[in-house]
Amino acid sequence: MTLTEPQPAAGSEPVFSPALSPQEGVEAATTLFRDCFGAAPDGVWYAPGRVNVIGEHTDYNGGLALPIALPHRAHLALRRREDRTIRLVSPQTRESIDVLDLDAIGPKGTPGEVRHWNAYVAGVAWALERDGLGPLSGFDAALYSCVPLGGGLSSSAALECATAVALNDVCSLGLAGTAQEPDDAGRARLVNSCIRAENEMAGAPTGGMDQSASMRCRAGHALELDCRDGSVTHVPFDLAAAGLTLLVIDTKAKHSLVDGQYGARRSACERAAEILGVELLADITGGALEDALGRLRESGAADAEVLVTRTRHVVSEIDRTRDLVSLLQDGAPLVGERLARAGALMDASHESLRVDYEVTCPELDVAVEAAREAGAHGARMTGGGFGGSAIALVDSDAVDTVARAVVDAYAAHGFAAPAFLNAVPSAPAGRLA
Ligand code: ADP
Ligand code: MG
Repeated sequence: MTLTEPQPAAGSEPVFSPALSPQEGVEAATTLFRDCFGAAPDGVWYAPGRVNVIGEHTDYNGGLALPIALPHRAHLALRRREDRTIRLVSPQTRESIDVLDLDAIGPKGTPGEVRHWNAYVAGVAWALERDGLGPLSGFDAALYSCVPLGGGLSSSAALECATAVALNDVCSLGLAGTAQEPDDAGRARLVNSCIRAENEMAGAPTGGMDQSASMRCRAGHALELDCRDGSVTHVPFDLAAAGLTLLVIDTKAKHSLVDGQYGARRSACERAAEILGVELLADITGGALEDALGRLRESGAADAEVLVTRTRHVVSEIDRTRDLVSLLQDGAPLVGERLARAGALMDASHESLRVDYEVTCPELDVAVEAAREAGAHGARMTGGGFGGSAIALVDSDAVDTVARAVVDAYAAHGFAAPAFLNAVPSAPAGRLA
């Protein structure tokens, strides 16, 4: 654990990370652009961070995930250039503008490698061209994001998707539609280029859930994403109508070993699928789980028991995701018995990730337990694990009580203070000005 911040005292006020309003986002990005480039941008585009409601570590197994888009967005003021130069600036780097050449940049580990956040922006232009959507032109861009960085809320995909919708418009790719009337098939193509940018240019071997959420969610809905084929269903998720809030708890914890552990989970799943003779663990249905676990136990693999627990998580998590979708899909308010069942599915997801998949950490477990004890209907870690964020489904009038309980529990454990945000299911990437 890295403790970089002062420890909070019990009774400290919970700190909420605010989302910029669209107007504030436009103003902040435009002002930065004008200050640094001395001209007005062609427009301002944005893309949201995301949080996954349920369906964790299922994406690379061809299973289901259920993310929502956050009101927290990356804003990008951008102006098309006539040449192939890319100039980038952010509030943290406003003293020096980064200058890149679209003809010279290339994947991580090659001479054209692009540094830090520039890889997520310039990388999308590079990937769009590699995916046959070029040639594009260069551009100047100013980034202003309020997606918490590295909190498991997909600040990286927000950069990529904001860039993709901006380039789609200024280079007339005709693929995105608008946030209100999205062209979903076109957006699915843009998603692929964003994933390519993240995998190849930034060198992060992530699945496609983050980019799909940022680009393809709908306001007031969760996105049922079938990671086998990228198909989506929009599931009504109007929490406010039921007097509920999805509270995000950013643990601020970042444990080492994350990369190695992620790879180890992936390869355990691949080996289990191979032993079971299926392409992906999503091919094992819930009814066939016990038989599959028996075969893994008898496989003679040195780590057979590990393969059993990893498989049990993945298959049961896909079932839980399907169950939550079926609770939500008719759009009836989440109250009474249905609310209790939704909360129980979230709790069971966390237990499975803690015990069978072993990707939680003390900060995540303490956040979840404290939230439940303070009255949350259900709570779970979200994202890859080993830090990042947890979510709790709470009555809207209990948000403060639950947040305070988590702050106090963190103080009692000597953890750095967490941050909170209100996860209102919001609109996908689009243009603001
Ligand atoms: P997450 O996507 O969960 O927030 P990642 O590690 O995937 O975490 O992405 C974080 C990276 O994205 C940062 O290291 C940085 O390179 C880039 N990034 C995201 N938002 C910003 C920002 N506002 N300013 C600069 N870099 C950013
Ligand atoms: Mg990311």
